[in-house]
Amino acid sequence: MCMTEFACPTCGHGYQDELEVLDEGELHDFKCENCSNPFHVLIKECLKCTADTVFVWREKPTSEAVSLLVCSSCGTPYSEPDDLDESDL
Ligand SMILES: [Zn+2]
Ligand SMILES: [Zn+2]
Repeated sequence: MCMTEFACPTCGHGYQDELEVLDEGELHDFKCENCSNPFHVLIKECLKCTADTVFVWREKPTSEAVSLLVCSSCGTPYSEPDDLDESDL
C-alpha cells in the first residue's frame, strides 16, 4: 500500500490521500484549502509496473491531454495505442 501524495499547482500546498478515497482513473475536483484556487487531480495506475502516478492540473485537462499521459516510473502510456500488440499480457 502506498500513500498517494500531490500538491496544489498554485501554491504547492501538499495533500495526502491517506484513506485512498480518490478513485483511480477519475478526475477529481479540488479546492485548495491554503490558497482557495481550484485544481484537478487524476490518479492512474500503470498496467505494466503498477506504480500509481498522480497528475495535477490548474485547469480541467482535455481528454486529449489525459490520453497523452504516461507512467512516471516506466514511461508506459495509459491509453493503449490502436496498434498495440495483443499478445502483450
Ligand atoms: Zn493552493
Ligand atoms: Zn509504469
